[in-house]
Amino acid sequence: MNYKRILLKLSGESLMGNKPFGIDPERVNQYAKDIKEVADKGVEVAIVIGGGNIHRGLDAEKGGMDRVQADYMGMLATVINSMALQDALEKAGIKTRLLSAIKMEQICEPFIRRRAVRHLEKGRVVIFGAGTGNPYFTTDTAASLRAIEIEADVVLKGTRVDGIYTADPEKDPNAVKFEKITFNEVYKKNLNVMDMTAFTLCQENKLPIIVFDMNKPGNFMKIALGEPIGTLVEG
Ligand code: UDP
Repeated sequence: MNYKRILLKLSGESLMGNKPFGIDPERVNQYAKDIKEVADKGVEVAIVIGGGNIHRGLDAEKGGMDRVQADYMGMLATVINSMALQDALEKAGIKTRLLSAIKMEQICEPFIRRRAVRHLEKGRVVIFGAGTGNPYFTTDTAASLRAIEIEADVVLKGTRVDGIYTADPEKDPNAVKFEKITFNEVYKKNLNVMDMTAFTLCQENKLPIIVFDMNKPGNFMKIALGEPIGTLVEG
């Protein structure tokens, strides 16, 4: 295996599958199967899930809601998604722990870095819920932050696109995929990989990012084995 410890970031929208909103159990079960394959090989897997399939702070603010209130609702949405994935992982036979940045003692542990690392060392898949616990941030930033805290080797951003392109491949047929790109090139070309806060955190801490298509079964394993199927951002 190419990595010892990885942080997988999944967007909330990815959990919708083909549904217009909410959580598609088929998609969640597929993710659980893919994650199990990699965890069974002894790779330590930590996961951050977004909440965009349920609630986004920025969108709610546009509708007139107080931004901080709306962001806390978004963080709660990530806990719902985390619980769905935790359930699917446990059903697939993986030991998991859900650690939340906002205390919810009945359903998950509070986030404590040393405890997270210990769970990983024991072979449990760790899910980080409630983002960073702070409004005005995103789950991409939570993913970068947690990855740095637990000293992950890489942040894997699982999307429905198979990497970073010169333009949006869903809109521009001439868009070309990068196999590898530096942090500076991403800035210069104004490419959309993660929000700036998340991206800068990775760059400053020399944490590589790989963007890849998580929706194709088996891709997560290929990435864990070091196959160049997505786009690697480093340097
Ligand atoms: N959020 C937040 N702080 C965080 C992480 C998330 O306030 O540290 C809120 C924010 O309102 C965001 C929502 O939770 O819109 C859902 O997260 P995100 O948009 O990152 O989800 P994704 O786009 O990955 O589904």
